[in-house]
Amino acid sequence: SYDELKKCSNNFSESNEIGSGGYGKVYRGMLSDGQVVAIKRAQQGSMQGGLEFKTEIELLSRVHHKNLVGLVGFCFEQGEQMLVYEFMANGTLRESLSGRSGIHLDWKRRLRIALGSARGLAYLHELANPPIIHRDVKSTNILLDENLTAKVADFGLSKLVSDSSKGHVSTQVKGTMGYLDPEYYMTQQLTEKSDVYSFGVVMLELITAKQPIEKGKYVVREVRTAMNRDDEEHYGLTEMMDPTIRNTVLLGFRRYLELALQCVEESATDRPTMSEVVKAIETLLQNDG
Ligand code: ADP
Repeated sequence: SYDELKKCSNNFSESNEIGSGGYGKVYRGMLSDGQVVAIKRAQQGSMQGGLEFKTEIELLSRVHHKNLVGLVGFCFEQGEQMLVYEFMANGTLRESLSGRSGIHLDWKRRLRIALGSARGLAYLHELANPPIIHRDVKSTNILLDENLTAKVADFGLSKLVSDSSKGHVSTQVKGTMGYLDPEYYMTQQLTEKSDVYSFGVVMLELITAKQPIEKGKYVVREVRTAMNRDDEEHYGLTEMMDPTIRNTVLLGFRRYLELALQCVEESATDRPTMSEVVKAIETLLQNDG
C-alpha cells in the first residue's frame, strides 16, 4: 500500500533516491518482509507516465524470467502511481561500462551479460504469449543485480504482438537514437527484429564501452569499416576495444563482432532471431572457456 511504500522508502527521502527517469524518480526501499526493492514513482500529473505505467504493469505481471527485472507490486492510491521492482544492486550496464560504478567487467563477464540479456529478449519474443517487442533495448535499460546477472528493464514502451498486428505500421516511432532500427524508423513496420538491432548495438557497446553515437561518430559504422579492412593483427579492431578489456578478450572476439554486425544489418530479414543470438553467444562462451 501507499503507506507501506512511503514508510519503507523513508518517506521518499533524498538519501533513498537511486535515480530518475523520464517519468519520475526511483527510490530504494525495504518491504516489511525484508526484501529490498526499487520504487518508481511517477511525477504528479504525468499522464503519459500513467499510460506507460499501465503498459508496464500489464506486461510485467504476465512475464517471468530470470533475465527480466521482476515487478514486485504496484500502487495506485491517493493520486500516486508507483511501481515496485526487485532491487538491482549494481545499477545499469551503462554505468558499469562508463566506469562510474567502480565495477570492472572483464570480457567473460560481458559475454555473460550479453547472454543473459539475449535470453530475456528471446523469452519476450518467443515464449511470452502473445509475444512482446520491447522497443527500447539499450544499456541504460539493462540492469545488473548483486551477482552481476543482467536483467532487461523498462517495459513502458513495449508492445504486444498479436497476429493481426504483426509487422504492423505504428503511427509513432518509439525508441532511442543510436539504438533505433533504421528500417523501422523508415518504414514504421515494427517487428521483433527491431529489438535485435538494438541488441546488436548493445553488443558493440559491451566491447567498445562507447555509446552508439559518440562525438558525432556512429560506432556501428566504425566497427563495420574496421571489420572490412581487418588484417592479421586485427589492427583497427583492437583500437576500438575498451582498453580495460583489451588483454582479456579471447579468440572469439571476431566471431562476436560478426554476430553483433549481423544483428545491426540494415535489412531486418538479414538479422538473426534472438534465440539464434542466444545460441551463438552460448557457443562463444564455451569456446572461450
Ligand atoms: P528511464 O525512464 O530513464 O529509463 P528509469 O525511470 O527506468 O529510467 O530508471 C532511472 C534510474 O533508476 C536507472 O537509471 C537506474 O539507475 C535506477 N533504477 C531503475 N530501476 C531500478 C531497479 N530495479 N533497481 C535499481 N535501480 C534501478
